[in-house]
Amino acid sequence: MSSSIYSGGKKPGRSSNFAHNRLLADHPPVPYIPLYTFLSYEAIFAPETHLSVLVVGSLALDSIETPFGAVKDAVGGSATYIAAAASYFVSPVRVVGVVGGDFPKSGLSFLEGRNVDLEGLEVVADGKTFRWSGRYHYDLNERDTLLTELNVFERFDPKIPDKYRRSRVVCLGNIDPVLQRRVLDQIENPRFIVCDTMNYWIEKKNAELKETLKSINALILNDSEARLLSHEPNLIKAGRVIRRMGPGVVIIKKGEHGALLLTEQMVFSAPAYPMENIFDPTGAGDSFAGGFVGWLARTDDMSEENLKRAVIYGSTLASFSVEKFGVEGLADLTYLQIQDRFRQFRELSRFDED
Ligand code: AMP
Repeated sequence: MSSSIYSGGKKPGRSSNFAHNRLLADHPPVPYIPLYTFLSYEAIFAPETHLSVLVVGSLALDSIETPFGAVKDAVGGSATYIAAAASYFVSPVRVVGVVGGDFPKSGLSFLEGRNVDLEGLEVVADGKTFRWSGRYHYDLNERDTLLTELNVFERFDPKIPDKYRRSRVVCLGNIDPVLQRRVLDQIENPRFIVCDTMNYWIEKKNAELKETLKSINALILNDSEARLLSHEPNLIKAGRVIRRMGPGVVIIKKGEHGALLLTEQMVFSAPAYPMENIFDPTGAGDSFAGGFVGWLARTDDMSEENLKRAVIYGSTLASFSVEKFGVEGLADLTYLQIQDRFRQFRELSRFDED
């Protein structure tokens, strides 16, 4: 567990709502570099207070083929990636989900090692864990789903432990929209609800998904899913159509072309980090969602400027996630790595007027 070093965290700056600017001012990088490289992210970065985060989603065994290799039954799932990514900003992240007796101990200890609270994880001893299998093309933006086996998810009825019911930020990972709504019914007075989904649910449970969308604040989906859901080829128009379905904030991910953040007043185009070494894109979307909610919960600031920062932190965590197979890329990041990459995003599209 990382809790022993976690207690050394700093309170986030709220006065100017620019928590990370405060952070940078408080910790000028140069004299501290040797220290950062040895301390965990939380030891320097985690606040003493933040909004509590509840993550609901799949915990899975993934079999993945990419042009660079293959793994079988690797620990994955939307909740696993989201919780791991969010855990770099807030702690503990609470997880609600279900696994079978075949879910490896290493998966649980990975999450516990990130100080993720697993009280809400149901273990069906004689059941099989959700399984997903995908094959990536040479163009890693293209992937075929080879298998989706719901297994223990088929009978999953999420029960939110009492101590989770007042969670202020809720991240509904990519699961059946009916289950997503059942979760929301058990939460008291949430501050911000973020929802992820995918083509599987847009096609198979369209009406149910639209019902869920009425109760959330932000929807995260990729470009093809946005077109599928809105029946609109242009992404700006698609965002507008989806916003009319309920969420005030829509984030459309465009793979290696970045992400669009759309609100009533704003269209923000975030660049993608130019990656030379992508080994496994699985979980990029979920890691993005985790970084996004983690930052919002940490700062308790849902302003448009802070939503932009959250999108960049989401992109930062996604970029780390794809550098290794499975959840490995989210295992041991440091403060310096995350902050460095966050700043590189800013440099990517900065230019002088003359
Ligand atoms: P991403 O690459 O971000 O879209 O997420 C991939 C993760 O989502 C994998 O770890 C899968 O186990 C999980 N996943 C894929 N399909 C589904 C589904 N229909 N329901 C829940 N989780 C899924």
